[in-house]
Amino acid sequence: MSGELSPQAAPSEQGYEGALRPATLAEFVGQSKVRRQLGLLLDAATLRQHTPDHILLAGPPGLGKTTLSMIVASELDKPLHQTSGPAIQHAGDLAAVLSALTPGEVLFIDEIHRMARSAEEMLYLAMEDFKIDIMVGKGAGATSVPLELSPFTLVGATTRAGLLPNPLRDRFGFTAHLEFYSDDELSSVIRRAARLLEFDISDQGVEEIAGRSRGTPRIANRLLRRVRDYCLVHETPGDTESVRAALTLYDVDQHGLDRLDREVLAAVVERFGGGPVGLSNLAVSVGEEAETIEAVVEPFLVRAGLLTRTSRGRVATRLGWQHVGAEIPEHLFS
Ligand code: ATP
Repeated sequence: MSGELSPQAAPSEQGYEGALRPATLAEFVGQSKVRRQLGLLLDAATLRQHTPDHILLAGPPGLGKTTLSMIVASELDKPLHQTSGPAIQHAGDLAAVLSALTPGEVLFIDEIHRMARSAEEMLYLAMEDFKIDIMVGKGAGATSVPLELSPFTLVGATTRAGLLPNPLRDRFGFTAHLEFYSDDELSSVIRRAARLLEFDISDQGVEEIAGRSRGTPRIANRLLRRVRDYCLVHETPGDTESVRAALTLYDVDQHGLDRLDREVLAAVVERFGGGPVGLSNLAVSVGEEAETIEAVVEPFLVRAGLLTRTSRGRVATRLGWQHVGAEIPEHLFS
């Protein structure tokens, strides 16, 4: 998948992401239910002068999980410690992080489903009783020494909530399920980012970008920056025409499909007669990893109504055939 439409952050984006992140719940666009739920949790904790329950943020990449963790810390006026599941390879890694937390601190663990099993078990006790047991020594002489922790709030983020073991999931007092953003919400995200970047763009230009952003603020902000580059270099205004020209240059079509999306859809239609086709056959036929197709391409094509998943494999919809420009075999849809 081209970099522009990947919902993952590129390392070069860190500075931009920081500058464009909303700092308060009020500035956070969309996800109104999650905002209200989280707002209530934080307000109650503040009134009670108590650390709030642990929070799990679940949803696809780029929808604002890291941003929300920062907002939780700033609304509570507490420091934030950030780490990630893959960085916690041993229980000792987690013990070092937990024992350094100050009272009320917010601990953000991104990709929490990728944490080592031994650390997960330590985390259960830490979340429940603010205590851990540290093993001292090795072999027969090893003893476990209890250690009291400062009360803290854990904010876990996961793109795969289903992979979390039940005992861990159950210890979160609140789970926020982040949804893809509507085009109107994405337009608000883009307008806000354009203001911060001091880039003048028309309302139609904003809507044109929103429609191609796959429901994901990270992608919307990235496409906006490509359009801004285009306008600077070509000395054109931020209007629909510039948006179309810039995004055509980056292979992003009017529905937000990129080269790989189109190749996958075309393969289902042209090479497999519209399907059903299995994931591995499809991956081989477009020369891409099955994981990328399953995690990034497919969910978008399904959401856009171009593809369906059946028990026998992937099947192109009527709209999918239309999008590829192939003659629609009416018998398949009658
Ligand atoms: P990942 O799972 O890949 O870490 P994420 O869900 O943590 O992604 P963020 O890093 O929080 O996503 O957000 C990505 C970008 O989108 C940031 O630049 C952020 O400013 C912007 N963004 C996300 N949500 C919103 C929102 N609701 N309003 C405005 N901007 C947003």
